[in-house]
Amino acid sequence: MMNIRKLQNKLSNYYYKENNLFIKYSLGNIKTKKYLRRILELNKTVYKFLNSKEILALFNTGNEGFDNRKKELLDRYIRYKRVESNPEIVIKRNEIFKKIKNTLYTLDGETISESKLREKINKKDEKQEKYNKVWEKLKENQRLVIKLIKDRNKCAKKEGFKNYYNLYLYRQGLENFKKCDVQNFKRKIFYKVNERNKIKKNYIKSKEYIENKLEKDNAKEKLFKLLEKVNVKINKKKIIEIDHGENPSFSWNFCLPKNIPNDVVIYLHKNKSVYDYYYSVFHEYGHAIHYSSIKCKNFIYKILPDFYNESMAFLFDRFLYLNDTLDFLFESSKVKESMKNLSIPDNELAIANNFNQFLFEKSVYELGNKIDSNKIQKFKKKLSKDNLNYEKKYYSWCNSLMHTSLYPFHNLNYILAKKYVDRVISKVIDKIGKYSTKRSFNYIIKNYLTRSNKNKFKYRFWEI
Ligand SMILES: [Zn+2]
Repeated sequence: MMNIRKLQNKLSNYYYKENNLFIKYSLGNIKTKKYLRRILELNKTVYKFLNSKEILALFNTGNEGFDNRKKELLDRYIRYKRVESNPEIVIKRNEIFKKIKNTLYTLDGETISESKLREKINKKDEKQEKYNKVWEKLKENQRLVIKLIKDRNKCAKKEGFKNYYNLYLYRQGLENFKKCDVQNFKRKIFYKVNERNKIKKNYIKSKEYIENKLEKDNAKEKLFKLLEKVNVKINKKKIIEIDHGENPSFSWNFCLPKNIPNDVVIYLHKNKSVYDYYYSVFHEYGHAIHYSSIKCKNFIYKILPDFYNESMAFLFDRFLYLNDTLDFLFESSKVKESMKNLSIPDNELAIANNFNQFLFEKSVYELGNKIDSNKIQKFKKKLSKDNLNYEKKYYSWCNSLMHTSLYPFHNLNYILAKKYVDRVISKVIDKIGKYSTKRSFNYIIKNYLTRSNKNKFKYRFWEI
């Protein structure tokens, strides 16, 4: 007989298995083809399990030990997973993964972006036929992306939602995040648009300065010293950093739990600019400290909303932005100033860009069955204008949808996390006076880092 404990054990097993596969893949222990095959196999099992009679019966009849919060969280998790583990969807997701991995378009043996390709086609030179061949391949991708979105919407409907976007909000406990909140956010985020050119200029100058002044090798040591000062302990047995050697499988960073809170893995990619590396070290260790602090036994309570996970990492990458932590980390006032210049775009420019991408995805998924490439292009064009041409590549919608289609709407989490973390930090400073003190971090550990999802989030923090 299935019961709640067994159900949670199974879910946690699948969850960590998927993480482990990704870790293996990122270490180069399995190749892309094998990795994707195993992801499909795993998801087939998950899909079958989540659609089995015993699971449906468990939710219909109730069960001892099935308190309301647990039931609610399991329902949010399972409905979402039932869609994302659907083999039809996994196959398309895998297909896109492969295409991204193998770079999107090649022309004369060179990697070429969609926008560059469009430029070339518009020139109408003698290589026209060659361009068109690549272009036809691109159309294949458009069809694939549209098909994936349609499938997701169809499956979300089966789960009782208007579309996949609404299912996503439900999964994250954000179903009260309404249209008016989105509009408010937009107003708030885009009003600073006129300052952007200035910010951008400072950004480029500061990045160059940091590149020459600091060294990647010191980033971790500096972070650890600061953590010691605020009495945040890193258990090196729990947090393991992967050494990917000279040839990393890919160029992104991540932190993934193999088991919360006992086993967390960090993957840091070194081939980045000095500032980006610093940021990644502080951000990913922030995630790791958070995952290894969560205190509770129930699997489903350990699975916090993604915006919350991001905001916990932000608590630590803000060390590179706040005055009192910068004073501790660096002596030179020019280094400090440059660090601040670099963090402002992280907060303003990057957030505006994330928001634009989120609005775009939202509009596309909300089209439901009426989706087609012309409509998508119109959205992209409109949003690009709203954003005062911050991002001019409105025509390359396929490319950008492909990149986000593995985890749709994830950009929303960064936006909400920024809002949440601003609130946490000002609360701590109000209470204690300074951010980088033992007392502040005692408070943060007690109230934020160890919290589970057992209790609801009390307020609608995104309201402005
Ligand atoms: Zn993160």
